[in-house]
Order: sequence, then structure tokens, then C-alpha cells
Amino acid sequence: MEIRKIGVVGAGTMGNGIAQVAAQIGLDVVMRDIEDSFVDSGLKSIDKFLSKSVEKGKLAADDKNKILGRIKGTTNMADLRDVDFVVEAVIEDLSLKRSVFKELDALCRPEVILSTNTSSMSITEIASATKRPDKVCGVHFFNPVPLMKLVEIIRGHGTSDQTIATATELAKKMGKVTVEVKKDSPGFIVNRCMIPHMIEAIKIVEEGIASIPDVDTAVKNGLNYPMGPFELMDLTGIDIAYFVNEYLYKELNKELKWASPNLLKTMIRANRLGRKTGGGWYDYSK
Ligand code: NAD
Repeated sequence: MEIRKIGVVGAGTMGNGIAQVAAQIGLDVVMRDIEDSFVDSGLKSIDKFLSKSVEKGKLAADDKNKILGRIKGTTNMADLRDVDFVVEAVIEDLSLKRSVFKELDALCRPEVILSTNTSSMSITEIASATKRPDKVCGVHFFNPVPLMKLVEIIRGHGTSDQTIATATELAKKMGKVTVEVKKDSPGFIVNRCMIPHMIEAIKIVEEGIASIPDVDTAVKNGLNYPMGPFELMDLTGIDIAYFVNEYLYKELNKELKWASPNLLKTMIRANRLGRKTGGGWYDYSK
């Protein structure tokens, strides 16, 4: 089946980025969120990104309008009825994701692949909310989606080879570099490598060994990473870092090395509403 139209569930940071890169390769996109204001804010983020590309001379104004014209924002899940592929990008909450997949399974044609952008959760568990586990996989984009090259394509227990091949081909058409995660394992590849790095950075600050800016400076200049761990957490959201950390701790049998540092828990308590309204590490370290 040729993929011409995709559904994106969630118009937040990741959802609107995924909608944008899909529209950029000529696909029609239906982007769904639960409130008009969230849909509008997703559409505005895309407009802002594309307008900057026009200002920089990287995109023609006419092409910007064509890309925006391919994206339909909606609060109505039924508008995804005729899509050929779905990417779910709602918040990192397993029961919410399962209920979204159940709804999509009842709505979309049986041959349609339902994929999730989860950062860490079990594809198999999400797939078990549907009657088509062979057509469920992870497509893990990175933030900011239009700029970050990698997509992890993740196999659930029952995912078919055809589903992996189709998702890989689609991500490649979007200009992404893909890797296959062959087993449904918490954190996949990148977060499994990144979370211990983040935990150690927080512990270094907690133990008074170095300051937040100095840890970031050390990692950037000593390891040649483009961002330090605290800058990265401020970009992606401390709330997401914490959810992923707690999930890995639970799923990797509560091995102590995966336990969230106290300082991270304190940050979450101090910042209940998350990055959208609250502060990041650098706000608190001023
Ligand atoms: P976000 O909070 O920016 O956006 C999530 C959106 O989902 C919100 O706008 C919310 O209103 C919407 N939503 C909630 N329930 C919904 C429903 N039933 N139907 C449609 N929309 C619904 O979150 P985000 O940062 O975009 O993260 C989305 C997913 O992507 C999560 O699973 C996250 O772990 C993953 N992810 C995030 C990042 C990152 O850096 N932010 C990177 C990779 C993967």
C-alpha cells in the first residue's frame, strides 16, 4: 500500500515536528490533539519553523504555504479514519497510549500500521491493546524532529518484518537515518545509553563535585558532545527525563544503578507543571 496520508496523534513538541517532516515530503497529514488550543499551538510551531527557513533562504515562501496546506489540524479522532499510517505522539503514559491504540485499531483500516513515538515504553504492551500487533511498531524520532537525523525503528514481540520495512522506508523518505531495535527492550538504544549519563551528571552536582554549567562544559569539550546533559534535559523536558528514568528503573528490575537521583526528584516536585510553565536546571541554578 502506498502511503499518501498519515495521522499524527498529539500536536505537542514531537507530534508537530513529525507532522512537519511528513508534510515536507509531500504527504497529507491529519494532526490530532484533544483541545483546539493545543492543535493551534502545534500548527503555530510548524509555521514558525518554516518561516525561519524562508528567512534563511532555505525554503521558498510558496513551498512553505504548500507544506502548511497539507496539514489538517483536528480534535476529532474520526478524521484519521482514512489515513495510511499513524504515528502516536501523546504524552508518555502507558494507559493513555493503550487507550489511544484501542481507539485507532477500531477506526483505521486493518492494513494500516499504527506506530508509537514512545521514548521507552513496551511496544508489545501498547500493541496488545489492538487486534493487529503485527502492524504495531515503535518509530522513535528525536527532538527537534525536523533537525535530528535519527529514528529508532522498534520491533514489538509480534511486529512483522513487513511493518519494520514499511516504517523504515517511510522514515528514510523523511530524510532520517534509521536503526532497527530488534528486541522490545526498555529505553531502546539511545535512552539506554543516555539515562546512565544523565544520572551520573546529576549525582556529580548532588555530591558537590562540580556545578551544572561546569558538567555541561566538561562533557561538551571533553567528550565532544554537542550539548551537555543538563542543557539536553532542559531542551527535552525534565519531566520526560524523570518519567523515562523511573520507567527504566522499574523495567530493569529496580537495579540501583537505574534509580532516579534525589536531586532529580526534588526538581520534579519543585516543578510539578513541567517545562512548559516551569523552569529547567539552568533556571534553578542561577
Ligand atoms: P508534549 O507534552 O509536548 O505533547 C503531547 C501532546 O499530546 C499534548 O499536546 C497533549 O495534549 C496531547 N494528547 C494527550 N492525550 C491525547 C489524545 N488522547 N489524543 C491526542 N493528543 C493527546 O509531549 P512530547 O514531548 O511531544 O512527547 C510525546 C511523545 O514523544 C512521548 O511519548 C515522549 O516520551 C516522546 N518523545 C519525546 C521527546 C522529547 O524530547 N520531547 C523525544 C522523543 C520521544
